[in-house]
Amino acid sequence: MNRYVGRLLAELAEKNPHEPEFRQAVEEVMESVELVLDRHPVYRDAKILERIVEPERVIMFRVPWVDDAGEVHVNRGFRVEMNSALGPYKGGLRFHPGVYIGKLKFLAFEQIFKNALTTLPLGAGKGGADFDPKGRTDTEVMRFCQSFMTELQRHIGPDTDVPAGDIGVGTREIGYLFGQYNRIRNVHAGGVLTGKGVGWGGSLIRPEATGYGTVYFAQEMLATRDDSLEGKRCLVSGSGNVAQYTAEKLLDLGAVPITLSDTGGFVHDPDGIDREKLAWVMALKNERRGRIREYVEAFPRATFTPSERGDHNPLWAVPADCAFPSAIENEINEKDAINLAHGGVALVSEGANMPTVPAGVQTFFDMGVMYGPGKAANAGGVAVSGLEMSQNSMRVTWDRDVVDQRLRAIMKRIHEVCRDTAEDYGKSGSYFHGANIAGFTKVADAMLAQGVI
Ligand code: NAP
Repeated sequence: MNRYVGRLLAELAEKNPHEPEFRQAVEEVMESVELVLDRHPVYRDAKILERIVEPERVIMFRVPWVDDAGEVHVNRGFRVEMNSALGPYKGGLRFHPGVYIGKLKFLAFEQIFKNALTTLPLGAGKGGADFDPKGRTDTEVMRFCQSFMTELQRHIGPDTDVPAGDIGVGTREIGYLFGQYNRIRNVHAGGVLTGKGVGWGGSLIRPEATGYGTVYFAQEMLATRDDSLEGKRCLVSGSGNVAQYTAEKLLDLGAVPITLSDTGGFVHDPDGIDREKLAWVMALKNERRGRIREYVEAFPRATFTPSERGDHNPLWAVPADCAFPSAIENEINEKDAINLAHGGVALVSEGANMPTVPAGVQTFFDMGVMYGPGKAANAGGVAVSGLEMSQNSMRVTWDRDVVDQRLRAIMKRIHEVCRDTAEDYGKSGSYFHGANIAGFTKVADAMLAQGVI
């Protein structure tokens, strides 16, 4: 690491001592960006790095609400408006007990590069609350969303900041948030949130987009080796939005998903999770809001392994060909990465954001595992959010096939840009370096052009 970047990271650690995920995300990008600074010292002179790690604005607010029993609760809400060089702030809202400012800054920072890679005019942001929707009734979730939006509405708008969903925020929550925004502002602001229901301004394929895109990215990676997903046995973690549609697209392309998980543990189905079983999981998770362990009661040939605090996650030790981490950050540690490679996994395409710790990423490089980093592989979700914004502005609705074709073309283009940029910088085959460098240069050039702001 050169002295300039080393000093910058030391300053970052000093300024953000209690934000390990944010520092991890910045360090990963800086390692790649060093190569760019050597070639283009103008970025250093304009202090692009110093500026890009500092959010343009951070909003924190109280979210008081009343549960069904009449008890008052108070949560903490946030919006991190990270970078607007390319367009309005854009990024999801996460409702999860682990949400705090450092986690949202990491996610917003990743979003800068991801959104740049889509080639759409999207800035970067992220928000959410330390609210756990699990175990809450519909009416409690609605009251929470209404209170959250009562404050957030002052800060967002179709040309300012356009939130979407993330962990704990799906179509149900977006509906309640959207209703409250329109009610307070006396508008029908279609473009203020994405991930809306199709009947009220949403885009077809938006729910599917992140999962589908992650699989399209894997397809492109395999094509460079004249290979395909046909017949490949695939590990998928999580059982939420991204995991469900990853599994669906894998089935479309002839692959065999064999695992799914949630915070309680994972299921392994050696016969494969076919369409009928996947439909059962979607009903379990999206309607009944149940736990993945119930899968083995419906499909007894599968096994359930409960989560435990060990030095590795046994899900990643199940022998397979490909892996699609789709749950949460840092869910693959170094030992998991070694287990994946030993178990036969030759490709990892990340649906989740930063699911692999840095030592795990290095392990993939060392053991020859093809690695699609989240900021490239899971960009399909925000890309279709961008397409939803376009449809809202034009007041049109594109057919399913039109949106899917565009998603596919965007993922193909992201793959090409990452591959070619890595090659250009002497890092052939590293989508990790390609994604960081290509995303960075696009935003850095826009920041240079727009002056010191
Ligand atoms: P989601 O629908 O809320 O699903 C999250 C899933 O991950 C749930 O099954 C959850 O289990 C599981 N999970 C959470 N923490 C876990 C843990 N510590 N161990 C094991 N499983 C855990 O969220 P999502 O939208 O699918 O998001 C999943 C990941 O994709 C996140 O990293 C998100 O940032 C990323 N992502 C999402 C989008 C998008 O469009 N939604 C776009 C890009 C990236 P429980 O039900 O037990 O909580």
